[in-house]
Amino acid sequence: MLIIEEVKAIQQQVWEWKQAGYSVGLVPTMGSLHAGHSSLIDKAVEQTDRVVVTLFVNPTQFGPNEDLDNYPRSFEQDKAICEKHGAAALFAPRTEQMYPEQAATRVQVSGLTSSLCGKSRPGHFEGVCTIVAKLFNCIPAHKAFFGEKDAQQLAIIKRMTTDLNFEIEIVGCPIIREADGLAMSSRNSYLTPQERKAATIIHKTLVQAQDQIAKGEKSTQKILHFIETQIAQEPLAEIDYIEAVAQETMLAVSEIQTGTLFAVAIRFGKARLLDNFIIK
Ligand code: AMP
Repeated sequence: MLIIEEVKAIQQQVWEWKQAGYSVGLVPTMGSLHAGHSSLIDKAVEQTDRVVVTLFVNPTQFGPNEDLDNYPRSFEQDKAICEKHGAAALFAPRTEQMYPEQAATRVQVSGLTSSLCGKSRPGHFEGVCTIVAKLFNCIPAHKAFFGEKDAQQLAIIKRMTTDLNFEIEIVGCPIIREADGLAMSSRNSYLTPQERKAATIIHKTLVQAQDQIAKGEKSTQKILHFIETQIAQEPLAEIDYIEAVAQETMLAVSEIQTGTLFAVAIRFGKARLLDNFIIK
């Protein structure tokens, strides 16, 4: 597996692969890789000939009081995971490579970014869109793979890709969970043993909510109320948001239908955890 730090070098490598007739897959990450990330790499390896995993803790998507400095980093382990899962290259640029001092351009998607995480984390999606657009220019892949755990991010990236005419197909990948249902996340490492145990309430509640919907409940309000009441019973949980929106527009919906996304962000101590389900 190639390890590449320079923008010019990864662009050249991708160009050579494309010239040779290979299809290229891209898996953007912030490192500290877990089975959620490796499921994306597996899917990319299944669907494309040469897979580039990117590892960059992107400073512009962190707010001033967020966890940029403490974000977990484990380069050697990440490298081993990428290699084991069949990545052809790991692109791990230094911050100055992606954001030279004079850099003054930001990518902003409107509308879709004003609810859910966009509301709780002002500027977050501007940072995400800026880095993803830059990565798409560094690695003009045929397909890029993103997790449905970050459902709003996925919708925004799809919009940006269409709007900016990137010729990249965006592939959404299902949420990978721990054995007890907690959605895998690099930030789960912030949880104390007590918080880790308490955090299982999120998935447990979302499964119960899905059961009620399967039995015929159509009101988003009733389901949101149910989720809120259940999670509020856990003293270590602090609700950031619990929302029901249309998967593609991120606008609130009152009646549950195909494409309705129930998304939650819940804090346990230092960790802010996301989870969701979509009515298929
Ligand atoms: P991150 O490193 O947290 O920025 O995540 C990189 C990519 O991995 C994003 O597309 C995430 O949505 C995806 N991802 C993170 N956790 C999971 C998970 N538990 N299941 C599936 N995809 C995930």
